[in-house]
Amino acid sequence: MSISFTAQTYPASARPLSFDESLCMGCNRCVNICQVDILLPNATAGKPPIVCYPGECYYCGSCVMACPVPGAIRLRHPLMNETKFVPVKKP
Ligand code: SF4
Ligand code: SF4
Repeated sequence: MSISFTAQTYPASARPLSFDESLCMGCNRCVNICQVDILLPNATAGKPPIVCYPGECYYCGSCVMACPVPGAIRLRHPLMNETKFVPVKKP
């Protein structure tokens, strides 16, 4: 039996946030709450904010929690942060 995996080519740390344009209403609550000012309002009203400094994100999740529309903004954690630690089974 063989198992194959695929992976996206870009590093997660370079694209920490993604927006669903069909859900985001451009309220900019996420922009205002970010403590390191990664986001800028979109010049077009009603459109998702612009991620200006993705490398500065420290994945606090405040922007996602501030969003009033579930699914409009998603945080993509770096792979090493997605690791699930499980207890070691002793023989
Ligand atoms: S996760 Fe935190 S640091 Fe990153 S964009 Fe959202 S509010 Fe800013
Ligand atoms: S992602 Fe959410 S908080 Fe940010 S502008 Fe869109 S609707 Fe508002």
